[in-house]
Formats: sequence, C-alpha cells, structure tokens
Amino acid sequence: MMTKKNKADLFSFEFYPPKTEEGAVNLEKVHQELAQLNPDFFSVTFGAGGSTRDKTYDTVVKIQKNGVSAAPHLSCVASTKENILEILQNYRQHGVSKIVALRGDLPSGMMSAGEFRYANELVEFIRKETGDHFQIHVAGYPEIHPQASCAQTDFDNFKRKVDAGANAVITQYFYNAEAYFYFLDKCEKSGIDIPIVPGIMPITNYSQLFRFSDMCGADIPRWMRKTLEGFGDDRESIVAFGEDVVSKLCQELLDNGAPGLHFYTMNQAKPTLAVWNNLKF
Ligand code: FAD
Repeated sequence: MMTKKNKADLFSFEFYPPKTEEGAVNLEKVHQELAQLNPDFFSVTFGAGGSTRDKTYDTVVKIQKNGVSAAPHLSCVASTKENILEILQNYRQHGVSKIVALRGDLPSGMMSAGEFRYANELVEFIRKETGDHFQIHVAGYPEIHPQASCAQTDFDNFKRKVDAGANAVITQYFYNAEAYFYFLDKCEKSGIDIPIVPGIMPITNYSQLFRFSDMCGADIPRWMRKTLEGFGDDRESIVAFGEDVVSKLCQELLDNGAPGLHFYTMNQAKPTLAVWNNLKF
C-alpha cells in the first residue's frame, strides 16, 4: 500500500465518534486500514453543543494509544470557559497536541450561545490558557460560510482566527478547484502563510451529499448533480463516478499548491483508499 511520499505533506483523516458498539468495532477496522497510509493525524468531530463530548474524548484517547496523533475537534458555541478549559486540560494530560478549533452551530432549540461567540475567541482562549502547547487548526470556507453576508467580511472574519494564533487551516469540502485556488491566493495576498489544507468529501451516496452540501454551503456543480441524479439507484455507477471526480480533484489540488489533503471519511475506509490509490505523489 502506498504511504505518503513526502513527509512535509499534510494528510489527515476525519472520523465521527461512533454511537454504538457495532460502530466502534467498524471504526477500529477503518482506523487500522487508514493508519497504514501514515497520516499526520486522525481528527474526531465534536457534536453540536457538546453532544458527543465524552464519545469524542474516548475516540481520541483510543487513537492516541494506537500510536498516531489524534486531533479532537472542539466547538465553543453553547459552552463556558470553564468547560472548555477542563476539556483542554484532559486532552493535554493524554498527550494530545493538535486541536481543530471551531465555533460550531447552535443545536436547534438551544437558545444560549454561551461564553464564546466565534471561533477566533476560542483560538484566543486556547492560546491564553495553554500557550503554544496545541497546534491549532481552524476551518476555512473557499465557497464562503453559509451565514456570511458577504465574501469579504467572511474572509476578514476568517483572518481573525488566523491572527489569534491558528497554525493551519482545514477547508470545508468543495468540488470547484478554482474556489480553493482563489482562496489560497487571497490568503497569500493577505499575508496568511500557514498551510491551507483542502477538505475532501468522497462521494458514495448522492442524496446524503446533496443534503449536507445544502446545509454547509458546498456547491455541487450542475454537471455533477445532473450526472449523479441520472444514476438513480445504480450505486456502482455513483461510486465509480465519485471516485473518478474526487481523484481528479485531489490530483489537481496537489499538483497546484495544496500542502496535503484532509479526508472526511464518514467512518469508511474504502472510498478514501480508492481515491488515495489513484493519486500520483
Ligand atoms: P467562525 O469562524 O466563528 O465563523 C462562523 C460565522 O461567523 C461565519 O459566517 C463568519 O464570517 C462569522 N464570524 C466569525 N468571526 C466573527 C466575528 N469575530 N465577528 C462577526 N462575525 C464573525 N461542526 C461541528 O459541530 N462539529 C465539528 O466537529 C465540526 N468540524 C468541522 C471541521 C471542519 C474542517 C469544518 C470546515 C467545519 C466543521 N464543522 C463542525 C462545522 C462548523 O462548526 C460550522 O461551519 C460553523 O457554522 C462555523 O464554525 P467556524 O469555526 O468556522 O466559525
């Protein structure tokens, strides 16, 4: 199996914390398969409003014990400073040194935003309380955050997180490579010189993909939407098309300045491995 060729490249795989025993057994298998690619880290998502706090923590500790770095996601919305500090201290005790710092989204029905309003405040807090211990990753939106009123304001807000002390950026997924290259160029012109790692979403199921994309503001180009819709229930064709499109996207990104790739694995090894094995490093 091909592992990454260049140690300087940043490759990472994202998991969500399993909800059931069966899910945990599956994730263990997926983790082992992807660990063979020698990634920089595995990241583990954090449910809105802290709903997966303990499960995220358990998954992170398990990964760390198996010898690959784990980067927990940490969202600050609906949280208190005391709560966040406790989480950071627990991670620190387990040797965790990377974190993905996010605002998150307020779960429906939850009215109080808590003590943090935006991710830049969380980054600032982590730096203030833990110095340089954590390597902090933040989220970037080449296709603009869905709640942003305008692209420039969104970029200015993004820059606040970087200026607050972020070390790297992982982007929302996208299928328009030009959006990423434009964002990269904008970062360079604004003096942002930390790595901007593209987030990659393999395609295996189109109704789920359309739903997610509508929520998070990722554009599915019309030609892709129409092609996927045209396959109907033909899963084999959806998977083959997805592998082809996403492999070409990744190759184009890597050939033109992307410092690595972050795969949203959805706790499946196969779609990510299929893309990975098509890449020429
Ligand atoms: P922010 O950077 O705070 O931005 C949110 C919005 O507020 C933007 O519109 C921005 O323009 C605006 N804004 C930012 N700062 C300011 C400011 N100072 N003043 C005024 N406006 C401001 N969600 C989860 O619940 N759990 C996860 O584990 C998770 N992981 C993710 C991983 C990645 C790589 C990405 C890209 C997203 C992830 N998300 C996750 C989704 C994320 O929580 C949402 O996109 C959320 O809406 C924004 O989080 P953020 O950290 O980007 O917020």
